[in-house]
Amino acid sequence: MLNIDLTGLTAVVTGGSRGIGRGITFALADCGADVAIIYAHSSEAALGVKDEVKKKGKRSLALKCDVSHEEDVVRTLENVNNEFGRIDILVNNAGINRDTLILRMTPENWDEVIETNLKGTFLMTKHATKYMMQNKFGRIINISSIVGITGNVGQANYVASKAGIIGLTKTTAIEYASRNITANAIAPGFIETDMTKKLPDRVRGEFLKRVLRRRVGTPEDIANVVAFLVSPLASYLTGTVIVVDGGLSLG
Ligand code: NAP
Repeated sequence: MLNIDLTGLTAVVTGGSRGIGRGITFALADCGADVAIIYAHSSEAALGVKDEVKKKGKRSLALKCDVSHEEDVVRTLENVNNEFGRIDILVNNAGINRDTLILRMTPENWDEVIETNLKGTFLMTKHATKYMMQNKFGRIINISSIVGITGNVGQANYVASKAGIIGLTKTTAIEYASRNITANAIAPGFIETDMTKKLPDRVRGEFLKRVLRRRVGTPEDIANVVAFLVSPLASYLTGTVIVVDGGLSLG
């Protein structure tokens, strides 16, 4: 149990059905926030997360919404605001990868990843801030990636989306500063989720050798930093990128 009190605040977590987003949802609920989970396909998993949050005594919603479709985003955020009465925290976590070398990457591979990861973050930010501005308070956390800083072979589309998220985070911080809305990004390293389970053992082994903390990261490692960033402890932070990679980028 984190010693952070978010009672009375409401959060929207995109990609809250699985992996890192699921961990973030539980951490925010453990700290007292009501949480709406946005997912694209995994209805069963999303309903399971919603039920877990309710068991913690907090309000929860599981809403199917493709973050890259503006009408979906507008309708979904309206639903959240109608149910919860306010939106204080937005965690832009939904993300996909379609890895291959640039030589083989199709324009469709490129567009799909940029649309979900980068356009989705833009659309959610654009429409959630309307509600945040009504209460003159908002905390936005964007999940980037260490590869958005370093680059990575076979991930040009993903890396571009994650680097773009860093630029978007800084601009969000600047444009909304006067509204008491902060925006920060987290750049995770190698975290154990469905996304990384797909990697061959050889690639996992190579990654692990470089992690100074000598273990893969967990969704909780990222969720703890999200909880800190949305708490009053981090009220002086905005426009930053926090690398949470166990030292991978130094190894
Ligand atoms: P994951 O296990 O594959 O989960 C991805 C989540 O995003 C799912 O909840 C999925 O919903 C949702 N999603 C995908 N496309 C969506 C769309 N168009 N609209 C709404 N939701 C959508 O991934 P993860 O590993 O937890 O990654 C979470 C975030 O962390 C991603 O942005 C990823 O790039 C970033 N990250 C991960 C790592 C890592 O090592 N795992 C490292 C650095 C950064 P459905 O279940 O309904 O499909």
